[in-house]
Amino acid sequence: MEGIMTCWVNRRSRMAASEEVKKRVEKLRKEIIYHNYLYYVLNAPEISDAEYDQLFRELVSLEERYPELKTPESPTQKVGARGDEIPPQLAHLVQKPFEPVTHAIPMLSLDNVLSEEEFREWVERVQRDTGRSEIDFVCEPKLDGLSVELVYEDGFLKVASTRGDGVTGENVTENGRTLKAVPKILKGAPEYIEVRGEVYMTKKAFEKLNAMREEEGEPLFVNPRNAAAGSLRQLDPAVTRSRSLDFFAYAIGQIRGTTPKSQIELLSFLKALGFPVPEHKHVRRIEGVVEYHAEMEKRRRNLPFEIDGVVVKVNEFALWDVLGTRARSPKWAVAYKFAPEQARTKLQDIIVQVGRTGALTPVAVLEPVYVGGVTVSYATLHNPDEVRRKDIRIGDVVVVQRAGDVIPEVVRVVEGERTGKEKEFVMPEKCPVCGSKAVKEEEEVVPRCPNLDCPARVERSIQYFASKRGMDIEGLGESTVKEFLERGFLKSIVDIYALKEKKDSIMALEGWGKKKVENLLSAIEESKKRPLSRLLVALGIRQVGERMAEVLARRFRTMDALMEATEEELTKVEDVGPKVASSIRQFFADEKNRRLLDELKRAGLKMTEDVEEEERVRENPLLGKIVVFTGTLSTMSRSEAENLVKRLGGHPTSSVSRKTDYVVVGEEPGSKYEKALRAGVKILSEEEFISLLPEEFRPKRASR
Ligand code: AMP
Ligand code: ZN
Repeated sequence: MEGIMTCWVNRRSRMAASEEVKKRVEKLRKEIIYHNYLYYVLNAPEISDAEYDQLFRELVSLEERYPELKTPESPTQKVGARGDEIPPQLAHLVQKPFEPVTHAIPMLSLDNVLSEEEFREWVERVQRDTGRSEIDFVCEPKLDGLSVELVYEDGFLKVASTRGDGVTGENVTENGRTLKAVPKILKGAPEYIEVRGEVYMTKKAFEKLNAMREEEGEPLFVNPRNAAAGSLRQLDPAVTRSRSLDFFAYAIGQIRGTTPKSQIELLSFLKALGFPVPEHKHVRRIEGVVEYHAEMEKRRRNLPFEIDGVVVKVNEFALWDVLGTRARSPKWAVAYKFAPEQARTKLQDIIVQVGRTGALTPVAVLEPVYVGGVTVSYATLHNPDEVRRKDIRIGDVVVVQRAGDVIPEVVRVVEGERTGKEKEFVMPEKCPVCGSKAVKEEEEVVPRCPNLDCPARVERSIQYFASKRGMDIEGLGESTVKEFLERGFLKSIVDIYALKEKKDSIMALEGWGKKKVENLLSAIEESKKRPLSRLLVALGIRQVGERMAEVLARRFRTMDALMEATEEELTKVEDVGPKVASSIRQFFADEKNRRLLDELKRAGLKMTEDVEEEERVRENPLLGKIVVFTGTLSTMSRSEAENLVKRLGGHPTSSVSRKTDYVVVGEEPGSKYEKALRAGVKILSEEEFISLLPEEFRPKRASR
C-alpha cells in the first residue's frame, strides 16, 4: 500500500503543469512586470513591498516546481524594468493610441487579374522580365481583412501598425496585443523582424457580433472586413479583445538575422516562430495555379473566413529583386480574383414556374447580368412568403447572388433606387400552365398544381428522368425534351424508350444529323442498364433522393420487392422514417405509376441493383479504411478517386488525423502531406493506391 502511495506521489510531483498553473504563472508575471514598471520607471508603486514580495515568491516557487515554465523573459530572471517595455495595462497612460508609424519598406497593394487569360498574361510578363521559362509559384488565399505590420525586437512584440497609406500607418499596438493569434513573444526569433499579415474576422464571429449589435440597436457591420477594421481601431483595447479577431502572417518587411530565400521557406519560418500562416500550395505549373484557384472558389463558401481570390507569388526572393515593384504594387505577386458572387440588376417581371412535383415557384425575370462567372437572366424567389418578406416588387433594382453551383437568387432590393412605379407581385391561385386550382398544404410553403397530367409537370419529370442525377441520358437535355414534347415524339417517360421508332422524324428536325440521333439512341439504350438506385432517383419519388435510393436499392434489390414492401417493412430499414415510407407507399399505390413501371420493365430496363458490385465491396484492401488525398492525381480527378474509395466501402475524408489509414499523395501535395509525415500515417503514392484497387476498378487511362 505504502509503495503504491509513494509511487503516486512521485508521479504527481513529476506531472506537467496544468492549464491552471500556466494561467497563474502568466498572471503573476503580468502583475509583477506591471508593478516593476510602476516602481522602477514611473516611481509610483501601487502596492507595499511586502505584497510585492509575496507575488514574487509565489512565482519563484511555481517556476521551481515546473521548470518547463521557466523562460528568460520571466521577471524572476531580470532586474528592474526597461522604460520602453510598457506593460499593456499602462499603455493608455504612456502612449496615445493611433500615433503615426512609418513603414521602412512600404506596404503595397496588389494588382488584380480577373480571368485565367489575364493570369497567363501576367505569367508571361514575369517570364519575360526574368528571362526564365520555368518559374514556381506559391498560392495563398486572398483573405478579406486588413493588413498589419508587427515589429518584434529580440522576440518581443513592440509595435503593431495598420497599412495606412502604405508608408504611414497607425499605431494599434495595444489593440494588436489583444489578438490571441498574434504572438507576444517569439520562439527563436531573429534580432529584429517586421512580420506582415492580415487581421480578419471569421464569418462566425462576424455573425455573432452583428447579432449582438442588432439586439442592442447598434448599427450593423456590412461585412467581416469592415468589422475587423473597426474592431482593430478601437480606442479601448478591451473592446478589441471582445471582438475575437484573427490573424494570418504571410510576409515580412525588414529583418536582421537569418533570412528565408523563398516564399515557401518564409511561410514555414513564420510558422516556426509561432505565427498562424494561411494554408497554401507550392506549384510549378500554371495549371497548378488555375486548379488551386478553381478549388478555392469551390471551397470558398465553406471556409471559416471570407476570401475574394487567390494571391499568387513568385516563390524565389532572388526573382523579386529582378522584377521589382511599381508605385503601388509589386511585380512578383498578383491577386487572382474570383468572379463576383453578387451583382445589381433590374427585376423586369415575376413569373411562376411549375416544378416536377407541381410546386409553384415565383421566379424573377432579370435584365441579364454577369454574376458568379455566368450571365444570369432568371433567379429564384423561393416562395411567395419570401417575396413578401423581402418586399420584392416588379421593376425593383435588386441584388442577385450566384455562389458556386447554387441556383441564382434574389438577395434583396436596393431601396434607394425605388421610383414608386414598382408593382407588387400577386401569387396566382391557378396553375399558370394547366389552369388547375392550386392547393397549399398546411405545413408547406409553396402552393402546388395538383394535376398529374399538367403539361409542365410532365415536361419537368421527363427532364428530371433523363438528367445527370437520374438516368443520365446524354443528348436528352432540357431543351431537347421540350422540343420532343412539342413535336409529339414524347408524351410520357416511357416514350423515351420508343424514340428509336421515330428516328427518321427526328433526323428531319433542324440540327439533327444522323450521327447525333444515333448517339442519342445509343445513350438511351445504355441507360436501360442503370441500377435500381438510379431509376428510383429518376422517377422523382418525393422524399427519395440519391442517398435514400441507395439505401432502398441495397435493401430490396429489385423494384418488385420494393413495390410490395409494406409501410411497416419500409420503416424497419435503417434511415427510412415514416414520412419516407408513406411517400413510397403512395407512389406505388398509384395506378398510373404502376403502369409506368410495367411499361419501363417491358421496354427492357434493368430494375435491379448491382449485387455483383456489392459482393466485391466485401473483400478489398480499402474496405473500412479512412483515406485522405492530397495533391493532383494523374490518372483520375480527386472526386473520382474519392468516389472509388466510397464504392469500395472506404471513407474519403479531407483532413489528416491519427485515425487516417492512408494519405494518397499526388503531384504538388499540400500541407496534408507534412501532417501525415508528422502523424506517422501510411503514405501511398498514386501507383500504390491504384495497386490496392480491385482490377476492375483501376483506371483504364494510362498514367501521363
Ligand atoms: P488590395 O486589397 O487590392 O490592396 O490587395 C492587397 C491586399 O491584399 C494586401 O494589402 C493584403 O491586405 C491583402 N491580402 C490578403 N491575403 C493576402 C496574402 N495571402 N498575401 C498578400 N496580401 C494579402
Ligand atoms: Zn398545372
